[in-house]
Amino acid sequence: MGVENCLFCKIAAGEIPSKIVYQDQDVVAFEDINPQAPQHVLFIPRRHIASMTDLTTEDGPVLAALFIAAAKVARDLGIGESGYRFVANVGPDTGQSVFHLHFHLLGGRRMGWPPFPTK
Ligand code: AMP
Ligand code: ZN
Repeated sequence: MGVENCLFCKIAAGEIPSKIVYQDQDVVAFEDINPQAPQHVLFIPRRHIASMTDLTTEDGPVLAALFIAAAKVARDLGIGESGYRFVANVGPDTGQSVFHLHFHLLGGRRMGWPPFPTK
């Protein structure tokens, strides 16, 4: 899916409603519609990047902005001390379902490690 019909591009543009918790010139962060933890926020670059697989060295500044924004939001949500995960799903084995780069900020509960079923 290209930028023209991208769900997260539309959220970044305000064309589809979301519960935005942070935004700046490069980054938008909004609540996940299907939260997997008491705090579950998605962080996206405003500019369409399909996946972590598509990153180039030119994307370094926006990646820094995403991580720094997530650390700030984690503090603001009160999980800066208790802890959180900041993760990206990449490709079929992980169940990636939206092809606009995004990182999940998850916190407010205990989480297992490794993060996949071990049966
Ligand atoms: P992933 O499986 O890593 O591609 O994650 C996609 C995430 O986007 C999932 O956690 C979904 O719950 C979330 N999601 C899908 N549609 C929306 C939406 N309209 N607003 C907020 N989150 C969404
Ligand atoms: Zn997009």
